[in-house]
Amino acid sequence: MSDNNNQPNHLNQQWRLVKRPQGLFQLSDFEFREEPLADLADGQILVKINYLSLDPTQRVWAQSDSYLPAVELGSVMRSLGMGEVIASQNPKFNPGDIVQGMTGWQSHLITDGKGFAKVPRLPGVPLAAFLGPLGMTGMTAYVGLLDIGKPKEGETVVVSGAAGAVGSMVCQIAKLKGCHVVGIAGSDEKCAWLKSLGVDGAINYKSENLYKSLKRNCPKGIDIYFENVGGKMLDAVLGQINVGARIPLCGYISQYTNPDPSQGIQNLSVLISKRAKIEGFLVLDHMQRATQIVTELATWAMSGKLKYQLDIVKGLKEAPIAVNKLFEGSNEGKLIIEV
Ligand code: NDP
Repeated sequence: MSDNNNQPNHLNQQWRLVKRPQGLFQLSDFEFREEPLADLADGQILVKINYLSLDPTQRVWAQSDSYLPAVELGSVMRSLGMGEVIASQNPKFNPGDIVQGMTGWQSHLITDGKGFAKVPRLPGVPLAAFLGPLGMTGMTAYVGLLDIGKPKEGETVVVSGAAGAVGSMVCQIAKLKGCHVVGIAGSDEKCAWLKSLGVDGAINYKSENLYKSLKRNCPKGIDIYFENVGGKMLDAVLGQINVGARIPLCGYISQYTNPDPSQGIQNLSVLISKRAKIEGFLVLDHMQRATQIVTELATWAMSGKLKYQLDIVKGLKEAPIAVNKLFEGSNEGKLIIEV
């Protein structure tokens, strides 16, 4: 335990949410502040934050109450992050420990450590990977595909947002389970990357007729549709599902910045004739299995069976604009801020 509980030289830099966003995030939705850090009380740790995870759900958190209450106006923008303990008055943490948890968009955090987990150092694995492919996003893919999708060898799995952080993990885990995998993504470059990961088909939904391309790539119909996007894409896929199909409903990113998300799904009644099921889930409900799942993901990654891209943007100041890459489709893999 460190006795250095005074950090007079540290200024905490923060982004606070001051306005509910309309459409994409604007810089004016946030305020940048610098504040001196308080002294550590008994039981507290001081974390110097190194990485912040940028996630589509932050747009939901900034807007309104959902599975978590909306971020209060005037408070630090909510975010998963990772950093190094630089002072500790808590016997469970030592200076030098790398920890992960809800840090918010800021450079430093004083916390009692509840809800924070230590991050292992593995040879050849960048620490930032534990914020994405070997962390929350990898777990999301694992739980949604394996627990809800329940893939069987030879089945056809279609994945939307397939070249993204979650989607690219889903595609590869489905291949490891012996499935015929078709990814849907927004550019030829993303489709080429998906092919390099071993998917059987990749569809550029911006330049191809989605319905026809699905027909061509899924000659035996669709058994599992891992949904990251929603809206029209869900309708196109529903028209081609098989009897007994499973649809893990992971995300609905096409509607997060839509001011009028009123368009309904036309093909929902197909679920009746196909005796199919659609099921939403939250990775947060599965954190008690984190060690088991992350160990499995890391084992696959270290043996080269699971590949990932980290899209690291440098500088805390970039966070409010960089987060929009998720909604514009310009992120290449897991989007992270290096503080
Ligand atoms: P990604 O890395 O997949 O980035 C988002 C991608 O979504 C973009 O690159 C873009 O790819 C695609 N996209 C954005 N807008 C649209 C649109 N209007 N239509 C079609 N595609 C679009 O992000 P994540 O992997 O972090 O998240 C993927 C999904 O998973 C999100 O919906 C997110 O909310 C959800 N999620 C759910 C969790 C849960 O517990 N249920 C946990 C974590 C994430 P492209 O270029 O292909 O269009």
